[in-house]
Amino acid sequence: MHTPLCRHAVGEPVEYAKHAVAIGLDEIGFSDHSPMQQDNFDNWRMNQGQLDEYVEKVRRAQKDFPQLTIRLALEVDYLPGHEDWIRELAARHPWDYFIGSVHYVSDSWAIDDPQKLSEWTHRDSFEVWSIYFERLTKAAESKLFEIIGHADLPKKFGHRPTRDCTSLYIKFLDAVKKSGCAIELNTAGLRKDCREIYPSREILQLAFQKGVPVTFGSDAHAPGEVGMNFAEAVQLARSVGFKECRRFEQRKHRSVKF
Ligand SMILES: [Zn+2]
Ligand SMILES: [Zn+2]
Repeated sequence: MHTPLCRHAVGEPVEYAKHAVAIGLDEIGFSDHSPMQQDNFDNWRMNQGQLDEYVEKVRRAQKDFPQLTIRLALEVDYLPGHEDWIRELAARHPWDYFIGSVHYVSDSWAIDDPQKLSEWTHRDSFEVWSIYFERLTKAAESKLFEIIGHADLPKKFGHRPTRDCTSLYIKFLDAVKKSGCAIELNTAGLRKDCREIYPSREILQLAFQKGVPVTFGSDAHAPGEVGMNFAEAVQLARSVGFKECRRFEQRKHRSVKF
């Protein structure tokens, strides 16, 4: 879940926590978009100098809602070559988990950025998906993350390759399995043009067959989105065979039944 520091979310962590309690959740986690080494990299994340303020906001929610477990985390952009920076970030605070996400398929194009939607018109969907999954596979192999976020994000605006992508998924999930991280079932996709949870049933089925664990996320960018459509996500996970999901504390995981 996010905070206004990323410049495209609304509501303070205390408001997210209040909503979580109201809908009966017992654990939530904040994972706002992590700063880049250059503050002007893009305009949809906190600056480096705001990292302490972010941690303070989450600590305040923890203090105000002692009945709720609130984890401190980051959604970290994976770009090849950024590994040292990510390790540096990891050392700055006692994080509970890092979500590794790929938004950028090049240094300038984040595929989910509505401002860059026109890029899709002169790109071949399969080529974009191939680059994206190659990077996502590298993210899993890097062992820098506990969770790989929204695994089929390129579908966000409804662009889907006509060619079969199964081999891309298998390579990615093999890397996830080998590295020991989990993939996120992210309900935000239901609120986008693709109208589908990330990742697709096909990817989830392959994940289950390979013994890749899952975790649940709403990717809330507003208090009202906390835990949104979780019943649907749980139903999807159960329908492909999952009975357990992962939770995280101090970058260690445990499995809980759902
Ligand atoms: Zn965001
Ligand atoms: Zn993301």
